[in-house]
Amino acid sequence: MKFTLISSALSLVALAQAASASLVDTSNKWPNPENIPVCWQIEELQKLSDFSPKLSVINDLDQLMMMDAEQLVTILSLEPSEENLDKIENERFLFQTILGYEQGTQAIKPYISIYKEKIKEMAINEYHKKTNIRFTGWNDCTEQDKQSTNNIRINIVGLYFGNGKYQVTGAYSGIGQPSTELKGKPTLSITVSPEINEKTELAVKGSVIHELGHALGLQHEHDRVDAQDCKYSKLTEPTISNTPSSYGGNYRYVGPYDSRSVMNYCSDGTELTNGDVQGLQYLYPESTQSKAVKCAINPASNYKETGFNYKGWCNGFKNQNACESAKKQDITLCKWTTSN
Ligand SMILES: [Zn+2]
Repeated sequence: MKFTLISSALSLVALAQAASASLVDTSNKWPNPENIPVCWQIEELQKLSDFSPKLSVINDLDQLMMMDAEQLVTILSLEPSEENLDKIENERFLFQTILGYEQGTQAIKPYISIYKEKIKEMAINEYHKKTNIRFTGWNDCTEQDKQSTNNIRINIVGLYFGNGKYQVTGAYSGIGQPSTELKGKPTLSITVSPEINEKTELAVKGSVIHELGHALGLQHEHDRVDAQDCKYSKLTEPTISNTPSSYGGNYRYVGPYDSRSVMNYCSDGTELTNGDVQGLQYLYPESTQSKAVKCAINPASNYKETGFNYKGWCNGFKNQNACESAKKQDITLCKWTTSN
């Protein structure tokens, strides 16, 4: 009975606010959202033969998958006991993953520079257009960059699944600004395919927008306790809480649940929804300078009510002349003069 009441209250809220929702982590926010450095840290992956020298006789994943447990036990020079046979079946998945990444990453090597361009374009087209976040840099990471906690370091990998199939799954990212624990390592990884077509590109795009969402502090939308329509939901009891039970971080719900969110495993979305944008706005409110630009373009706008004095609003810009001339016609140019 209680459950029904909560549900109907929720759908009323959802109707009133349309699709606007997010699950955000406020603990590792970036200090300057208008200048978040991004660099490429393309890693050589561990080879199956490094991991287990005896397995160097296996040339490809198809060969590994065709071998039965007894053959693998022989290759690894284990006693053919029942226990070892079980162990091999458990470890085959690990071998498969290592060999899959090794072969997949080899296969995508000729396409790395194409994917760098595509990923950059995908990120800018979504985030720069819809939010006040600006990703900058996009060069290969220097040794100094790799030790920094003030950048997003992107790795690009391939994953071969056997039988000629490549899979665009298994991407990951840290949540928010990286901690010192991630020093030296990529902070975000995207899996791509050597088969570049509309379908794989869309899958990569969804993954890029999703992982960058994590890197900015967005969490999985289906992990909200009110994500009742999603099979991945960790909902165990019908209570609305401000903190999902599975997380220990500093989590906040922004608006009602969004089933279309790019951060929702139950959505096949490849773009930021209004709800995702609202979550990012909660974490990174528009800067005073951006407000000043809008205020100067349209002094009658709501920004006037914030009490900001828009006279002399170009003072904070590096290129004041460009700003002065831009404020009459081009708001975009004006915003850009702040970030270089
Ligand atoms: Zn995720």
